[in-house]
Amino acid sequence: MSTEAENMKVTYTSTNVDMSRFHAWFDEALRTLRAQQGATYPAYIDGVEVRSEQAPIEDRSPIDAEVVLGHFQACTKAHVDQAVAAARRAQKSWRKLAWQERVAIMRRAAGLIRKQKFEIAGVMCLEVGKNRLEAMGDAEESADLIDYYCDQVEQADGFVRSMKKMTTIETNTDVLRPFGVFVCISPFNFPMALSTGMSSAALVAGNAVIFKPASTTPWTGYRLYKIYEEAGVPAGVFNFITGRGCDVGDTLTFHEGVDGVVFTGSKDVGMRIFHGLSERWAKPCLMELGGKNPAIVTASADLDKASDGVMKSAWGLQNQKCSACSRVYVHKAVAADFIERLIAKTKAISIGDPCDADVYFGPVINEAAVKTYLRVVDQAKAEGEILYGGHRLTEGALAKGHYVAPAIVRVSKESTLLREEFFVPFLAVCEVDSLEEAIEESNKAEYGLTAGLYSGDEAEIELFFDEIESGVTYINKRSGATTGAWPGAQPFCGWKGSGGSGKGGCGPYYVAQFMREQSRSVVVEK
Ligand code: NAP
Repeated sequence: MSTEAENMKVTYTSTNVDMSRFHAWFDEALRTLRAQQGATYPAYIDGVEVRSEQAPIEDRSPIDAEVVLGHFQACTKAHVDQAVAAARRAQKSWRKLAWQERVAIMRRAAGLIRKQKFEIAGVMCLEVGKNRLEAMGDAEESADLIDYYCDQVEQADGFVRSMKKMTTIETNTDVLRPFGVFVCISPFNFPMALSTGMSSAALVAGNAVIFKPASTTPWTGYRLYKIYEEAGVPAGVFNFITGRGCDVGDTLTFHEGVDGVVFTGSKDVGMRIFHGLSERWAKPCLMELGGKNPAIVTASADLDKASDGVMKSAWGLQNQKCSACSRVYVHKAVAADFIERLIAKTKAISIGDPCDADVYFGPVINEAAVKTYLRVVDQAKAEGEILYGGHRLTEGALAKGHYVAPAIVRVSKESTLLREEFFVPFLAVCEVDSLEEAIEESNKAEYGLTAGLYSGDEAEIELFFDEIESGVTYINKRSGATTGAWPGAQPFCGWKGSGGSGKGGCGPYYVAQFMREQSRSVVVEK
């Protein structure tokens, strides 16, 4: 890729980009990738290609379910045992490398991601159904995450710190040291950024990693493996296992030789890991889980801004972001006006093949997601009112993929549709009498990831910050009511059922969580 293409930076909120050149480079990347479709890919353990005797996993595109993007290994318990043994061996020398050398290798990986970002983004269009800008945001974020985590190690001087002396004959030092071997499991929706963010923090801290991507997105995971390999991560330090979570998940996470798990995904799977992980002693379990993210629109809000922000957060990646806005509490005095604007803006979005330059809204990830969508639409019909959408899309080429229309429904505050996460393009709107009521209803969900407020009143903003039970909050954000966090700008920490670490990815305290403290006192008697 040319240096010019490499230097073009596109984030989730970019506005000053030469789009004609962006799309030309994107077209070229898609042509290259389409020529590779249908290949068979190995897993990698100890730097060596591994093939399974089990029937391979077919990686099918959500855009057209007939298209097999690649065949990936269905790894077994024996592969997990091998990967754990390799990681334990390799971690010994990895942790002994000077931290500056680990940082240099990881920064090389960030550079390689930037070089390959059009192809990496293209894989995510084909594999996840992301539109071009969303896919590029995911790739760019991955590189920035690595750099941000390297900065953390540098700023902390490798996490070695002098401590106070209790006597004149002692020297005390506090050292953060890696735990050992981390299992890293990622979800389908940000297959590059989340996989890279979790694994790079574990690696730069000196751990070895066994990585399993979602079985719907192994191709993106494979690209990440190849980047680390090219950057110089030694054999066995980063191992790439593919397989279904229901088959190899427990074997991986509950393995005796694993020292910790870093997981992003649904609350159900996360809690299963959390409960099963620590048997003989407590092991670190860093988890970022689901969301049911509210936007609140008060009577003092700018409704043009609010309807823009909700539309973008609800329909970006088809509401399959953990941060997607999936419910709105709107003051009844402005509800009719807000809903009218929101529907008009939703009608205007382009739906179709997300590989096309002008498409905003693509398919959902698989047939199971279509079924979830149809089920919750039925529930909304019984409990409330469908304001827009609510059906499968089957016109022309859409029939080949997993396409549904964005659904906007009105429900009363008792509805469970306002509290459960569905992860499909379904937005529930509820009218309220006050901001206090909106906050109280927002906090009833067991999730607490992101939340947005639209208000023109300082006192309302203060009340929202103070009372809302969410780790990521936004006020009056036109580019996305609840979405768009970026490394170093918006730490991404789920509260309550949305996460267990208390210190999120993208934030300043992330890397230290992959390390444990050792106090070193040296006494010299003269
Ligand atoms: P998921 O179904 O929980 O799967 C996540 C990962 O866990 C996949 O790699 C999956 O493998 C694996 N897995 C499944 N069962 C397992 C088991 N028993 N043991 C170990 N691993 C297992 O989630 P998803 O559908 O991919 O992603 C959507 C969810 O992730 C949503 O809830 C969303 O809110 C959440 N999410 C949260 C954040 C955040 O930062 N808080 C970010 C993104 C997504 P298979 O694919 O093979 O089943």
